[in-house]
Amino acid sequence: MEVTNRYIVIKAKIDGKPQESDFEFKTETLSLPINPVSNDIIVKNLCISIDPYQINRMKTVSASQKTSEFAAGISPGEAIIAFGVGKVVASHNPKFEKGDYVVGHISWGEYSISQGFILNKLDPMGFPLSYHVGILGLAGLTAYAGFFEVCKPKKGEKVFVSTACGSVGNLVGQYAKNFGCYVVGCAGSAKKVKLLKEKLGFDEAFNYKEETDLNLTLKRYFPDGIDIYFDNVGGEMLDAAISTMNSHGRVALCGIISEYTNAGKRAAPDMLSVMYKSITIQGFLVGNYLYLFPEFLKLTIDHLRTGKMHVLEDVSFGLESVPSAFVGLFRGDNVGKRCVQISQD
Ligand code: NAP
Repeated sequence: MEVTNRYIVIKAKIDGKPQESDFEFKTETLSLPINPVSNDIIVKNLCISIDPYQINRMKTVSASQKTSEFAAGISPGEAIIAFGVGKVVASHNPKFEKGDYVVGHISWGEYSISQGFILNKLDPMGFPLSYHVGILGLAGLTAYAGFFEVCKPKKGEKVFVSTACGSVGNLVGQYAKNFGCYVVGCAGSAKKVKLLKEKLGFDEAFNYKEETDLNLTLKRYFPDGIDIYFDNVGGEMLDAAISTMNSHGRVALCGIISEYTNAGKRAAPDMLSVMYKSITIQGFLVGNYLYLFPEFLKLTIDHLRTGKMHVLEDVSFGLESVPSAFVGLFRGDNVGKRCVQISQD
């Protein structure tokens, strides 16, 4: 079998904020080798996850690039591996049959060729395919593992979440509320703040772009201090959260998006506070928590079916929309999990 594949590449390394003009479209022919024991499969890409971490793979240099295979640098002209859902259209691999849904590593293109590395069969269980890159996929597991395993919450604790209207952040807030915590989120627009309070059940939310002194802001929302900070942004928000934290507070360092496109920016938390308040700051990668997937899925599906969790997704359509969907992450355009539906099932 042979397919014509349109796919997206970077034209050159990207060292600042990405722009749509940094990307170009290419065309290739994909075919299975003559040898039927090659293990290769061809996947029709259906839904691609659009993720901030990809920018660190596109840089000339990033400390992230040598940490794991997920984070390896991307060269200009090379296919961009990404998480997503697809359907097998041809297989030489005994693990996969034509027609199987798969989830895992595919690419920013119409088709992917794979030997099944970081790719598994998917049972959609009656849910839309997009849920399996979001709430029931790696985004959900990131929120679940980061909150329950890294932060080790207790009922009644006070939790602060940044980028709370984003893919991971909104789920952290929902898990924390369902668990019995007091939850405050910050986000970058009035529309997002309203959604957090009125739809997702956050106790409070604020627009960080309208605040001039983040220390005062956090003290206003947490007069008794923060117990848990789920950090998606780094920078000055991390500094302010540390200064507002209670003794034995925990910070789950999930992401530092405010620093991804600004090489000169660094969080500089007050380390005396960290020491004297015995605060734990723990970076984590979702890839190290895959063992939690079954319990994560069980709880999340239960919450979905009983209406305790809401799905917040931001879906655009067609391969052409991938560059703008990606670039928009760094402007705060997305509300919830951003993904692109490449093709109808
Ligand atoms: P997301 O929150 O859905 O989207 C990115 C959001 O970041 C934007 O909507 C915007 O929201 C905010 N943002 C963009 N530029 C910013 C800046 N300069 N300063 C402050 N906020 C900015 O993305 P996500 O997929 O859920 O990822 C959230 C974070 O978690 C990212 O840092 C990501 O790299 C990280 N992550 C880590 C893991 C892991 O294994 N550790 C896994 C998945 C994701 P506002 O409108 O609120 O500004």
